[in-house]
Amino acid sequence: SLKITDECINCDVCEPVCPNQAIYQGIEIYEIDPSLCTECVGHFEVPQCQRVCPVNCIPLDPEHEESREQLLDKYQKLVALA
Ligand code: SF4
Ligand code: SF4
Repeated sequence: SLKITDECINCDVCEPVCPNQAIYQGIEIYEIDPSLCTECVGHFEVPQCQRVCPVNCIPLDPEHEESREQLLDKYQKLVALA
């Protein structure tokens, strides 16, 4: 999963581009639900939120490191639920 740091300026451009609806407005800044973020695996070649963020505040979350296989597995489970 990726994470949003406190450098977020609440511009709201990332939320609509997430294919998994993993991004939401938190109490102070936008946040990513790690159970929904596939790092865009299954949908796009590159993380769409990182592509659009104007302040580059969406790094990999070191507390939720996942292999490509794990991300693909998460994607397939999310698709099955949809
Ligand atoms: Fe959503 Fe992709 Fe960003 Fe994860 S990397 S929060 S799936 S846009
Ligand atoms: Fe925050 Fe970046 Fe998302 Fe804008 S695009 S809301 S600055 S994380």
